[in-house]
Amino acid sequence: MARRTSSAYKSVYSSRRRAVFRLVAARVKASALLVSKPEDVGYLSGFGGQDSWLLLGRRWACLITDGRYAEQARAECDDVEIHIRTGTVVAAIAEILKGRGVRCLVLQADHVTVAQRRDISAALPTKRVKPVSGLLWTLRRCKDAQEIRAIGKAVRIAQEGFRQMLSAGAKGWAGRSEREVAAELDHRMRLAGADRPAFDTIVAGGSRASQPHYLPGSTKIKRTDAVLVDWGAMAGGYCSDLTRMVFLGRIPPKLVEVYEVVRRAQRAGILAIRPGVSCRSVDLAARKVIAAAGYGEQFVHSLGHGIGRDVHEPPVLAGSSRTRVRAGMVVTVEPGVYLPGVGGVRIEDDILVTPSGRRRLSSLPRSCEATVLR
Ligand code: ZN
Ligand code: ZN
Repeated sequence: MARRTSSAYKSVYSSRRRAVFRLVAARVKASALLVSKPEDVGYLSGFGGQDSWLLLGRRWACLITDGRYAEQARAECDDVEIHIRTGTVVAAIAEILKGRGVRCLVLQADHVTVAQRRDISAALPTKRVKPVSGLLWTLRRCKDAQEIRAIGKAVRIAQEGFRQMLSAGAKGWAGRSEREVAAELDHRMRLAGADRPAFDTIVAGGSRASQPHYLPGSTKIKRTDAVLVDWGAMAGGYCSDLTRMVFLGRIPPKLVEVYEVVRRAQRAGILAIRPGVSCRSVDLAARKVIAAAGYGEQFVHSLGHGIGRDVHEPPVLAGSSRTRVRAGMVVTVEPGVYLPGVGGVRIEDDILVTPSGRRRLSSLPRSCEATVLR
C-alpha cells in the first residue's frame, strides 16, 4: 500500500542522504553515488518499489524508476527528483549526470553486477567509475527513532501471529504438516498487519529441529514433538526475527536440560550487551555457558545479527567480528544447541542497544512451560 510521505519523514530521508554523501565526499572528490541496493534506496528516499535506483549528488537526489512505479514514486518520495526511464537504467544515469559537474561515479561494490559496471563505464567515457564497499552500513547499523518504532511494530505483528497459533492448542499443530503450520503462521501475520513474512518461516518438528535452517516439508507433526519455530514479519520496510520452541504434550527430559542451558546462554548474551563492548564479547558470554554445559560443539552458528530493512545485516555477534556495540543497534540474540537424531533448541529475541544498556523489543515468554500445548 502506498504511504504518503509526511514532512517529518522527508527531513529524515534528506538528512540520511546528506550523511551518506558526506561519507562519499570524504573519500572521492566531485563524485555522485549510485545506490543500487533496494533496501538502501528505501532508506534514503522512502521508496518501497522494486527495480529502482537512486542517484545522489552533493545537493540533489534522483530516483530512477519506470512507468510501473511512477505513481508510487510520486506518492512516497516527493523531495527527490523522479526520472521515469523509457530506455535502460544506464542510459538514464548518463542523461541525469549531464551538466552536473560530476567527475567520478561511486558504485555500491557489493550490489552491482560485473556487466552493469562494464556498461556504466562504457556509457560514461569521460568519468571515473569507482566501486566502494560498505558505505551505507556505517549509517544503517544504528537505527533512528523512526526505525526503532518500525522494528517494534514488526515484532508486535510477528508475536500476534504466533500467539494466535498457540491459542489453538495442540490440535492446531499435531497431525498437520510443518508446511501447513508455517503457512498458517504467515497468513496470521499478514492479517495482523505484515506486508509479508520477513523470510521463509521455519517449522521443524522432532529430530528435524537439529537442522538450524530447515525448510518445512510435508512431514506431519506428531503429538509428542518438540517443534522449533523461527519466524518474523516485514512491515513498513522493517523486519523482526524470533524463535521459540513449541512442546506438544510432555517435554522430553533431554530437551528440558538443553532448553535450560540455551535459556541461560541467551540471558548471559543479552546481559553482556551495552554500548562500547565488542560484538565478540557478547557472543563469547553466551557461548561460554553452552560450552560449560558440554554442548559447545553443538552451537554451530554465531550468536546473533543486526536486523532492520534486511533480516540479516551488520553487526554480527560472532567471534570473528571486529565491531563494537553501539546505541541504536538492533540485534538478535539466538543461541542454539543441535543434536542430530534427537532435535534442536533455539531461543531468539530482538534487542535494542540503549545508551545505558539494552531493551528487549520482543515480549513472548521464554520459559519452556509457557509453550507446552495440550
Ligand atoms: Zn530467526
Ligand atoms: Zn536470526
